[in-house]
Amino acid sequence: MSVKTEQLNTAIWVYDIDQSKIVWANTAALKLWNSSSNDELLSRDFKTGQSEVIKESLLNYKLAFKRGEVIEENWSLNPKGQEVQAFCQLSGFELEDGRIAMLVEATTSELMTSNPEIGGVAILSIYRTDGKLINGSIRFTKIFGNKLSHLNEMFCHHDVLEKLFAATLQNIKFEDDVLLNTLNGEQWFKIEASKTTQEDGNKAILFHLSDIHERKTVEQTLRQQAWEDSLTGLVNRRGLTHFVEENINNKIPFTLLYVDLDGFKMINDSLGHAKGDEVLIEVSQRLKINMKESDIICRFGGDEFILLIEHALDDDCAFIRCETIIDSFTETYENAHGRDLTLSASIGVATYPSDASNFEHIIACADAAMYHAKKLGKKRWVSYENGMEHVSKRISVISQQLSFAIQKQEFSLYYQPIINMKTGHICSFEVLLRWKNDELGLLSTEETIQIAEQTGLIDEIENWVLVQALHDLVILKKVISEDVGMAINISGLHLSDPTLVDTILQQLKEHKLQPQDISIELTERVLFTDKNNENSSIRRLVDNEIKISIDDFGTGFSSLAYLYNIPATTVKVDKSFLESIATNTVILECIHRLVTALDMESLIEGIETEEQAKILFSLGFNIQQGYFHGRPKPIEYYLHTYPL
Ligand code: C2E
Ligand code: MG
Ligand code: MG
Repeated sequence: MSVKTEQLNTAIWVYDIDQSKIVWANTAALKLWNSSSNDELLSRDFKTGQSEVIKESLLNYKLAFKRGEVIEENWSLNPKGQEVQAFCQLSGFELEDGRIAMLVEATTSELMTSNPEIGGVAILSIYRTDGKLINGSIRFTKIFGNKLSHLNEMFCHHDVLEKLFAATLQNIKFEDDVLLNTLNGEQWFKIEASKTTQEDGNKAILFHLSDIHERKTVEQTLRQQAWEDSLTGLVNRRGLTHFVEENINNKIPFTLLYVDLDGFKMINDSLGHAKGDEVLIEVSQRLKINMKESDIICRFGGDEFILLIEHALDDDCAFIRCETIIDSFTETYENAHGRDLTLSASIGVATYPSDASNFEHIIACADAAMYHAKKLGKKRWVSYENGMEHVSKRISVISQQLSFAIQKQEFSLYYQPIINMKTGHICSFEVLLRWKNDELGLLSTEETIQIAEQTGLIDEIENWVLVQALHDLVILKKVISEDVGMAINISGLHLSDPTLVDTILQQLKEHKLQPQDISIELTERVLFTDKNNENSSIRRLVDNEIKISIDDFGTGFSSLAYLYNIPATTVKVDKSFLESIATNTVILECIHRLVTALDMESLIEGIETEEQAKILFSLGFNIQQGYFHGRPKPIEYYLHTYPL
């Protein structure tokens, strides 16, 4: 026991609980008790005027001291009728006769107010087991008034009171932060309630209250700030974690709708982050309109939102909720440049407890279902089914590995020849990315590109491809022919990078190549979306005489009429048109005629047989690509086949 007698503002005294007398005190204690001498203080009788409440508390303390406990509490003392507040540390003290007395170490109120760690003064009261008030301390009456007669009037939330009764009935100490009705309105208190036996043998409930209103209000504001997404005002990820875990702890079933915007990255990248933010705010407004009062809407990440719906939705309800959200998102968003923007959403649905039993797992389930919705073509919703999360786990592993692929030199490039059928020679190559990872093996290029786009790594990867391909083109020109060119695939996302065209021009210069030596392959979708923009990368590529090919023509919008508006030089007809070539060539003939009329070149890819090659040649497709003419191969193959 550390007795800091020399410390001026620590008053120390020993109180004999049975005799209601102070038996020892230091000088500071004399001062605190407003006593002229040690003898005077020791002769004071504390029994007279001591309320029932205090008596009960002291008896409880005695039991606690016997168990070796130390109690810390704020006390309101009344030396000679003057109220003094002190923070007291109470512990047991064995008297000469073996009885347990109470050692009080009290710090004065001046010190207390400068120490925010210490809460308000303890407020004592005692009740019958049916909740009727027996007695309250002076401080209690000051706060609650003298008209209060029953706990029912005191508690703002009666379910808390029921819990309190249930606990005390079982002799369990009840502790909680509660909202109580005071003379000044509703205020927060920390409550400790325990059952006790009065002198007459009757049972009673003893209350210790501490005023924590200020702390609680600050805490709530802070929590609100910590739980709020600053852009949209929705609940943030931390807030959602709290609500989901609260439901799980209380075993309340719920459904999560994991909403991910389709096409948001494109808006952000092409129109800038400020516009992107505006769209996100608009999206959150639309979500709010469709919410029910008990729903919680969270902005979970960049363009990901999660709705927490309090009960397990059946399929019909999930259908209504998800379709409403998808419909509301589809309405156009206004753009400052007068052009309307469109967006859609993919939604994954997962339910607690049927799909998962903890926070991480339920989020993973909803995320996995959302990913399936994307895979199925976006703008739709999918309910979680067993095993779906393994797919998204793979994606997260791939994403992680992909970020180190350049550094670990795991990428390589394969070149597939493009043949001019009139001369029978290679006129160009298409560069195709390959990725071999130690852990994952050889990955499909389509999957790699898709994940690179989702994770934002695409720009870096394609810049690497560009530099490497131009380096190899210089070599291929030397070994095959000065006339060979290189077709490079560029993702729609990378195209919106304003530095892309400058990078291409600079790399051409560094490798002493001409703009005509390369062509950029873009998909139909990208070309159609970007066609109006004067400052677009496409416009700048064309202005700098770099050729543009429409890749996989026929798999996207497939509208021949659109071809008029596109500044492309080559149309690369997709291999799917080859399926019925032996029986029906009408469509291919049409495409070829139209493309030629528009002064573009038509190329057909995916040719696997000699027969296909011949028919296509007869239809006028002079430029051909496919396994029949040559599979994609690394540069070493060509160095070997065409030695200098
Ligand atoms: P793509 O641009 O349409 O490239 C042609 C794809 O068809 C290549 O697949 C090629 O190996 C395959 N192919 C060529 N001839 C035949 C054939 O006769 N039969 C069949 N069945 N397939 C043939 P790969 O290499 O798996 O690439 C797939 C896609 O990945 C490419 O389609 C392209 O869209 C994309 N890609 C590859 N490298 C890059 C890149 O650096 N950037 C971007 N954005 N995309 C790339
Ligand atoms: Mg291509
Ligand atoms: Mg293609």
